[in-house]
Amino acid sequence: MSTQFYLLAALLALLVGVAAGKAWERYKLRDGRWIDRRRLRDTPHYMLGLNFLTEHQVDQAIEELTQAAGTDGDALEIQMILGNLYRGKGQVSRAITVHQALLQRPSLTRLEHAYVLLCLGLDFRHAGFVDRALETFLEVLVLDPGNRYALTHLQKLHEEQHQWRDALRVREQIAAGAGGSSGENAAILAFLRNEIGVEQQRAGDLKAAARTFESAIDANASTAPARLNLGDVRERLGDLRGALHAWEALVDVSPERAYLAFDRLERGYRLTGAQARFVELCERLIREHPGDWRARAALARHLLQAGRPRTAFDLLIEALPHHPHGLAVHQEIWHTLAELDLDPALVSRYVSLARDAVFYLDPHICTSCRYRSTELLWLCPQCHTWNSFVEERIAPGKQLSE
Ligand SMILES: [Zn+2]
Repeated sequence: MSTQFYLLAALLALLVGVAAGKAWERYKLRDGRWIDRRRLRDTPHYMLGLNFLTEHQVDQAIEELTQAAGTDGDALEIQMILGNLYRGKGQVSRAITVHQALLQRPSLTRLEHAYVLLCLGLDFRHAGFVDRALETFLEVLVLDPGNRYALTHLQKLHEEQHQWRDALRVREQIAAGAGGSSGENAAILAFLRNEIGVEQQRAGDLKAAARTFESAIDANASTAPARLNLGDVRERLGDLRGALHAWEALVDVSPERAYLAFDRLERGYRLTGAQARFVELCERLIREHPGDWRARAALARHLLQAGRPRTAFDLLIEALPHHPHGLAVHQEIWHTLAELDLDPALVSRYVSLARDAVFYLDPHICTSCRYRSTELLWLCPQCHTWNSFVEERIAPGKQLSE
């Protein structure tokens, strides 16, 4: 949706430029006829239509712009916008008809041609005609090689089909053209390289996968899945120390994602006879990030297995206020209480603390479109944004009951 708004904004900016140029000319030779551009300004419909557009009143905008187009049927920009508005309303075949009709005009400039094709590509994408959308965006790039909107949509189309190498190539083009912020480019390039590495890993080419994960980390140091995967590949290659190094680096660079490496680190330390390092790691995280309930829960689980349920229980009771609505902490507490033979004093301490907790089964939420998920996703299945999920933090039940 936001891409569409940007596109609309870009089109409006383009139109203002086009309109200014055309007002300057006043008259324009089109198809061998002199057209008086002033006719558009003789009716209020054009301006009214643009105003409704900025107010997002789509139906009124369509009505006024259709009337304006009746006054000057040659006005390319009005037809282009009308087509886009139809698409926005879900009338995609109508949008396609309008935009295709514009392409039949013999006198389109190169820029006009490119923008009409871009609109048509969006129509095809919206309608789910993936191949035709791909072709159309490629045609835009022939006319206008640096067109960022065409490149962005191409990237997304490739991503939707898991064509990670194609998506990467397109994103590299965007980055080379200085489109997008450098931070955003680096993050996306890193996630795409990570996906390519996952494919190599699946195909059994572990050395190539390791190099690809390293290149993803080079592009953006805080790419959590690349660090996890790099460790996994190193472990499979027999380099457990290298694997531990990759997972520890994740903890250092992205402490908020450290928990993703807890199981791996705990197992790796046990295999290398260094269990104490897991305890140290969790304690350091709790010290540096007092709200980190996951480090407490992980340490509690570790201590429970080591036969220290009472210490584990205290840690979990500390963790609970930081994450009262999450099932994970409660489940750990139930296990621990069972180990402690349901000591009535401890049970009542837990019950009074948990009384107001709200339970959510899907705490991960996309910051860009509010899509909810039970697990952490790197690419949103709804709005296709990279790395947009955060854990939803909400207050205990009392404050939320409105
Ligand atoms: Zn989303």
